[in-house]
Parts: sequence; structure tokens; C-alpha cells
Amino acid sequence: MAKLVWRVRLIAELEPGIVSEAEVARIERDDFAVAETIGLTLDEGKRLMAAAQAEIVRAQVAAMGERFRWCEDCGAKLVSKGYYPATFRSVFGDVAVRVRRLCACGCRAGKQEPKSFSALAVTDAIAPELAYITSKFAALSPFARVADLLSELLPIGGAANAGTVRNRTMRVGETVAKFTPTDAPTLESDAVTPAVIVGLDGGYVRSRHRRPEHNFEVIAGKVVGPDGAQHRLAFARNGASEEQFARALVRAGVRDRTPATVLSDGDTGLRNLQSRVLPEATVVLDWFHIAMRFEHVLNAAVGLRAGTVDAYLGEIARHNIERAKWRLWHGRWKGCLIKLAEVCRWTEVKSFREIDGIRALRRHLGDLLAYLEANQCGLVNYGSRHRRGEPISTAFVESAINEIVARRMIKKQQMRWNRWTVQPFLDVRVAVLNGTLEASFRRCYPQFRPANDTAPIENAA
Ligand SMILES: [Zn+2]
Repeated sequence: MAKLVWRVRLIAELEPGIVSEAEVARIERDDFAVAETIGLTLDEGKRLMAAAQAEIVRAQVAAMGERFRWCEDCGAKLVSKGYYPATFRSVFGDVAVRVRRLCACGCRAGKQEPKSFSALAVTDAIAPELAYITSKFAALSPFARVADLLSELLPIGGAANAGTVRNRTMRVGETVAKFTPTDAPTLESDAVTPAVIVGLDGGYVRSRHRRPEHNFEVIAGKVVGPDGAQHRLAFARNGASEEQFARALVRAGVRDRTPATVLSDGDTGLRNLQSRVLPEATVVLDWFHIAMRFEHVLNAAVGLRAGTVDAYLGEIARHNIERAKWRLWHGRWKGCLIKLAEVCRWTEVKSFREIDGIRALRRHLGDLLAYLEANQCGLVNYGSRHRRGEPISTAFVESAINEIVARRMIKKQQMRWNRWTVQPFLDVRVAVLNGTLEASFRRCYPQFRPANDTAPIENAA
């Protein structure tokens, strides 16, 4: 049987006209081929890419070492302080490199600069593209699965375990994901931007360590712009919630003078947060929560003396409560409270006090009244808002909490986070769900994956 051999060479031309060659792979096959021996295997492909990458990275590091040999100001040759070993981690493998350190030139003495510097400044020595794909997939799948997938497909050396994926994702959350994407408009803090709708909701996440607490709360929300564009946000409820919320709003394009409507379910903590961060906002208490509480009261009324000759009492109560509800729908909340208070007084009439179920009715009525009074400032004319097509329910936020919290963080996840360490992961996930992670990387690394739509924007105007 004859052998087929391919030798892959990398031909470098690092200076014009001067070429050097290096063999980066050798592939052998029998001349009798079966399906599994046709073409490159995954393993051969990985080794080929890793070998080419090592050649290229080392040449670039060496070129940078040469480039900084001479002072940019006076042209004097700088003193080399030798080399230090480093590892550059990339999607095509880890490359061990020797980075040159140089002494700063004498002509710059007294300028408060470090006495020496590296020829190559690479943060964490990790390629942005590796950080990007790792964090992008880690936002949506368990860390161990991401590690498994990446090491299956790419010649990456050190990222074969969940811990590495976790640490890299955290770093991306701390550094990159909080940057405003490059394509977002830069706005002054007092810019007047179109009105937005903001909704917040809370969800509980299990702490990895049971101490000091089993669960902690994550607040997720959405900012909906006039064009219907949705921007998700998420932060843990802890001492920094206010700051995180304010920052997330800025990232969503909300400024001090942006008219905002906040949909609220009446949660006191969320309302306090909103009133501190968005004091000027119009607050709308969620109609769905109101209707649900009315439902409890109506059920209690219908249950009064049901099936007896006194059932008409329940019918009277039901009728009055329905009327109170429709007053509220039409924005007549004072009329609604008066009607409910009437029913309440009626339940206290001496001859009714012993009727079965009247206590339950009174309790539900009391709850409803307290809820509406506590949220008075959020009671609006729901009927007219609804006719104008404006939202009256926080339902659009509930999908956000499910996407951000429920899917990834509660079910069978081996998470090592708590309310103080979770923020970078939330930032990455929100950036992935909003589709802004790549643009945020581009803001940190201007030459990262150049955007395809580079047509000048000025022409559009
Ligand atoms: Zn100099």
C-alpha cells in the first residue's frame, strides 16, 4: 500500500524579501481511504492550528521586543533587562513566549514613569476572542459543559475545566461587559431622550454556600424604548443595588431627563429603589396584581352563605366589589376606596357578624384596601392607558426574570456565588441576552472582530 504524505509549511516574510519556513504539520494516509480517513481529522486540525499559532505569536512577540529597542524620543538604544516567560492563551492553544523587558531611556528620567517596561502589554495574557467565546457560552450553559465543548473543538490547553471557564467569565463581567457597546450613542447625562417603560421583578437564587444565607434575591427588569426595543438588566439585591440599577439604566440609554414610566407590582423594596433612582418617573401599579387581589375578595363574597336563603348577601357584596373594581379601572380610585370601605363597614354590622365566611371576606377586603392605599401613587386610569395601547401589566418583565434567573441559576446548577459575587455573571448574561457582548468587547479592544456594517453613519442622515 502506498503512502500519501502532506507537509504543511508556514512561510514567513517578516521583513520584505526575507522569507523563512517552518513545518507546522505532517499528515500521512494510506492510499486506500475510508470515510473516517478522508480529509483532516479534528485532532490533526487542532495540531495544525496550534503549531501555526505558536509560530505566529512568537514572531509577533519577538517583533515587539525589537520595535521597542530604541527610544522613541531620542533614538538611543535601550538597555534590555532580559526576558520573562509568559503564556499567551488563545483559541488556537496556549503559546509559551519570552517577553522582553527594557529599561526606560535616560532622557525620560524624572517624568514619573516606571523604570522599565514590557515590550508586549497583554492583559492576563488571554486573547480577547478566547475570553469572548468562553463567556458568551458560559452565560447560557453550565461551565463544565462549556469547558467540554471548547476543549473538544479547539486546541485550548488550560480551559478544560469548569473553574477556568467560571474565572474567565467573571473577569469578562468585571472588565468588558460593563462597557457600553461601541454602537450605542454617547449621551450627556442631561440629554433628553424618548420616553421609556421600565419594569422590575425579583427572583430568588440559591446560594452555593448555605452560610450566611440559603437564598438571595436577584432583581431583573426591562427597559422598553419607544421603538419597542427591549434592554434587559439584572442585579443582586445587596448594598450596591441602587448603584447597579442606576448604571444599568445608563447602559440602556436612560438619562436624568428621560421620561420614564415604571410598572410596579407594589413590592416596597422595589418601589423604594425606583423612587431613589428614578424619582421623576410615573409609577403604574400592575393591573394584574390588583385584579388578582380583587379576585380573592370576590371569591370570599360569593362564598357567603352560598346555597342558603341568605345567599343574596353574598350577591350584594359581589355587586358592590365589582363596581369598586370598575371605578378603579377608570381611574376613580377614591370612588373605589369609598365603595370598598362601604362593603367593609357592612361586614361589621352586628346582625351579619356571625355569618359563615364573613371574617374571611373582611380579611381579604382589609388586605386589598391596605395594598391600594400603600400604592396610591401608582393608581392610574387603566382604561384609558389600555385604550392608548400603553402597558398596564408587568407581564413583560416576568419573561426577563425567567430568562436571566430561572433558566440558568436555579435548576441543578453548581454555582459558587452569592449576592456579593454574582454581579459579573449577571452582567455577562444580560449582555448576551441583549446581544451587546461583542460590541462591548469592541469598545475595549477596538480591533476585535471588526463590524461588517462599516458604512459611514453620517451618510444616512
Ligand atoms: Zn531617549
